[in-house]
Amino acid sequence: MTGVIGVVGIGLLGSLPAKATSRLETWQFDAHQNCLRFTTATGVKPQVSWLAKPRRLVIDLPGIVTDETRADAFIGGAVKAVKVMQVDARTSRMVLELNTDFTLDPKQVKVWGLTDQEWVVQLPHPTPVVASGGPDRAKAVGWSAQGNAPVSLSPRLHPNQVSYLTVPPTATVIGAVQTTTEGFWLSTQGATPQVHVYRTRDANYHRQLVIDVLDAALAPNLGAGGLPDSRYGVDRWNLTQFATAPPAVRITLNLNQVSPDWQVFLGPTGIRLMPIGMAASQIPQGTMTVLLPVIQPAKAPLVQSGASPGHGAERSPLPRGSIVVMLDPGHGGADPGAIGLEGLQEKGVVLSVATQVAAILRQQGITVDLTRQQDQTLDLQPRVDRAEAARASLFVSIHANAVNRQRPEVNGVETYYFSDSSLPLANRLHRRVMESMGMNDRGVRQARFFVLRRTSMPSALIEIGFLTGATDAPRLRNLQWQAQMARAIAQGILDYLHGGGS
Ligand SMILES: [Zn+2]
Repeated sequence: MTGVIGVVGIGLLGSLPAKATSRLETWQFDAHQNCLRFTTATGVKPQVSWLAKPRRLVIDLPGIVTDETRADAFIGGAVKAVKVMQVDARTSRMVLELNTDFTLDPKQVKVWGLTDQEWVVQLPHPTPVVASGGPDRAKAVGWSAQGNAPVSLSPRLHPNQVSYLTVPPTATVIGAVQTTTEGFWLSTQGATPQVHVYRTRDANYHRQLVIDVLDAALAPNLGAGGLPDSRYGVDRWNLTQFATAPPAVRITLNLNQVSPDWQVFLGPTGIRLMPIGMAASQIPQGTMTVLLPVIQPAKAPLVQSGASPGHGAERSPLPRGSIVVMLDPGHGGADPGAIGLEGLQEKGVVLSVATQVAAILRQQGITVDLTRQQDQTLDLQPRVDRAEAARASLFVSIHANAVNRQRPEVNGVETYYFSDSSLPLANRLHRRVMESMGMNDRGVRQARFFVLRRTSMPSALIEIGFLTGATDAPRLRNLQWQAQMARAIAQGILDYLHGGGS
């Protein structure tokens, strides 16, 4: 359930200007760039402080509420975790916790308001703590008791107050966007660009790659005429100059169906964009239908092969057509979920397993739908909505777990439910997976996960192992193991259905 994106949803609680509260809409921490990006439903002025015991950056959002359901994301690097909490009825707090072995210079923290609803907090590169007196020792302050005030960092930007035409020269000037044989090249002058990259969708649900270049300006001669025509799956480019101080530039690539994902490389003379997983020359012109991966059907009918005493021959046939199973592969798209050993990503593992569970159940004549069938960004509410719209008989969310990378000894399976009526489903699933996978049993647990609370049908969420676990990680990566896990989950669902929901 851990991830680096939190998507939260609480309705607007107030509308009077004086005490209006708004909500934290999305946040995303990029561990490679040490960059936190968050958006709020209405404007906010974040208050950023650095606290030294333990070392953490605290971002208070006055007038903003949040749902604490997905509060914690374990990052596992120098920034150990991002925590989001509701401080009081009106204030949300985001806490970036540093690993005890690292520190950073709080004076180098930059807070950028791209708009007053969209903020980027750029951390300097964390450095290992030196024994006897790290750089921040002198300002070791606590949040509470000791009476020391935290170091307060004021946001650098006050959006919409300064026109970029009047601010001092920027660190980076973006001069040209060119198509090359290997992708795209954005030439720059000045400092090596400082960027924040994320993947999103436009209003029509088309994929976008967004590159925010901080402390940057567009060269005056770079107009729309200087942008590439539709190439390599990029239909259209948008370059936006933000009138912040210092200014920032947003580069948006509107991707069509043939576009792969893109990787962004920074250098002293420009930004290089290269497709991931294929050469640029292999990207066809125009659009085409994306084919889903074909899953090899299992050879033997699984109900018989896996049946245990009491569940086998006497089974009554399932009422075909009346049962709809909704499978929910966690995360996706811009949200990789947990990232484990050797960069293994939760979103890919759980999609592979869920797709195979669907294939197995369909072979048994059961109608199956998935909340996502590809690597796409998907909020939590649409997952619930899809299950409700399909009048699903049951909902099974599939995730993979993670803890701090310094805890490789933590391995095993956890199955979650929320309402008591969902406990039999969780039990059936968990039992089958335990029987067939030989993994550490971390039990069936009750938890207030969003998709479990908001679905009206029996629902369970299974964490199929730890991406950070020394035992589990190699298994999660193994395709045969994934297929076996899919069979176990499918079998657990069949057990539940044959048991008449008990
Ligand atoms: Zn997850």
